[in-house]
Amino acid sequence: MTIVTAAEAAYVVAALLFILSLAGLSQHRTSRSGVVWGIAGMVIALAATVGLASRSIPATGLVLIAVAMVLGAGIGLWRARVVEMTGMPELIAIMHSLVGLSAAFVGWNGYLDVDAGLTGSLLGIHHAEVFIGVFIGAVTFTGSVVAYLKLSARIDSRPLTLPGKHVLNVSALVAFVVLTVAFVARPGIGLLIAVTVIALALGAHLVASIGGGDMPVVVSMLNSYSGWAAAASGFLLANNLLIVTGALVGSSGAYLSYIMCKAMNRSFLSVIAGGFGSPAAVADGEQGEHREIDAEETAQLLHDASSVIITPGYGMAVAQAQYPVAELARRLRERGVEVRFGIHPVAGRLPGHMNVLLAEAHVPYDIVLEMDEINDDFPATSVVLVIGANDTVNPAAVDDPAGPIAGMPVLHVWEAANVVVFKRSMAVGYAGVQNPLFFRENTQMLFGDAKQRVEDILRALDALDTSVPEMAGTSR
Ligand code: NDP
Repeated sequence: MTIVTAAEAAYVVAALLFILSLAGLSQHRTSRSGVVWGIAGMVIALAATVGLASRSIPATGLVLIAVAMVLGAGIGLWRARVVEMTGMPELIAIMHSLVGLSAAFVGWNGYLDVDAGLTGSLLGIHHAEVFIGVFIGAVTFTGSVVAYLKLSARIDSRPLTLPGKHVLNVSALVAFVVLTVAFVARPGIGLLIAVTVIALALGAHLVASIGGGDMPVVVSMLNSYSGWAAAASGFLLANNLLIVTGALVGSSGAYLSYIMCKAMNRSFLSVIAGGFGSPAAVADGEQGEHREIDAEETAQLLHDASSVIITPGYGMAVAQAQYPVAELARRLRERGVEVRFGIHPVAGRLPGHMNVLLAEAHVPYDIVLEMDEINDDFPATSVVLVIGANDTVNPAAVDDPAGPIAGMPVLHVWEAANVVVFKRSMAVGYAGVQNPLFFRENTQMLFGDAKQRVEDILRALDALDTSVPEMAGTSR
């Protein structure tokens, strides 16, 4: 067996492992094995690619590849070890930017180093691949860098609204098509520089135009773009595995974006076109008086409750409150209270963010319900604990048709008898929109770090149990 046939066979195995990995990652219980399949596929893919490269490059080239792999793996392992769960989205965004950058570099390299054997229409196809690869790569690069800056709060998450923004986007796309035709007919470095600059500007503008509330869709869109960028590089490098892997990432990212758009009642096209029609006006003024509650009073409320729904959000992840929250749920259930969790599809900063945290704290799967499964149950609920959630429980999405989050499905927590909101201040959520929930008559604010407040409640419940042991579980 030659190196080439061995490598092609290894590529088929790696592609199958990547498909198994995606299948595994699609469910909680199988997600760990999904990661293992993915790692195995990538190790096989890298070994086969280096084996193939060893036929045509000198020993110094192989040493450089080994050094790059050790450095890259070292940096990857270090970042993965130190990153907090709350920092995952920006880490993913910056990784997408690297995929985009490398696709743009591969494209440029394809222009500077053309295979002498390519002539006629094959040469034309090669130049089209160069141009498309550079375009997708550069859009992905700057789009991901802007997403990183927004997600890490280094720049404002509000949408940029340049006058005629859609005209700008469409003009960039038209220019790309015209320049592609010109480049295939007569390749020149001036045209390649022009498309690179246009694509860099377009990527930055598309993502800058999207408001905070729509960022989940953008993250999965950029995931998809990075896949298509990798596939474009695969065509240029004549690497079948890169084409297959890029197509897998591109299509699964596009499908995830479609699911997220449906969950948020957003049009897919409007989000990829840069927040088409999203209102710029952001309501951030206070809307009346809010009422406060302390941990002891909250414990009393829970002591008297028959049913409790907990709706966690990004603040639970920041506070790392999932462990005391899980303990609170366990203690209440022991007392006979019906406790369930209501999970919004975009709560936190990652798809499935809350599910991961609750699974980590061993909350039973059967009491963790999706928004659609629980939204009708709020009117019959005694107490809702909103733990570090804000945009995902904002009634303005339903009541304010002109607001920035209008139409986004939210958890109808305000329909419960009592709502306790855990947060540190009256600050707005990620979308930058004030939340009228905080000013409703049945809402009380429990200020402070969510973890500390939940621990205070656990202590207060203990105190209640010891002071009136005979009443525990019978006062409902
Ligand atoms: P939000 O981001 O809207 O609000 C989080 C709240 O948590 C804030 O109001 C903050 O208030 C509070 N908070 C922060 N730290 C603490 C703490 N230590 N203790 C107590 N409270 C705290 O959260 P949601 O989960 O409701 O909404 C997610 C938002 O993120 C949506 O807009 C979504 O579109 C967006 N997004 C989601 C992504 C995803 O894939 N899930 C990806 C990118 C964006 P305060 O500062 O006053 O404490």
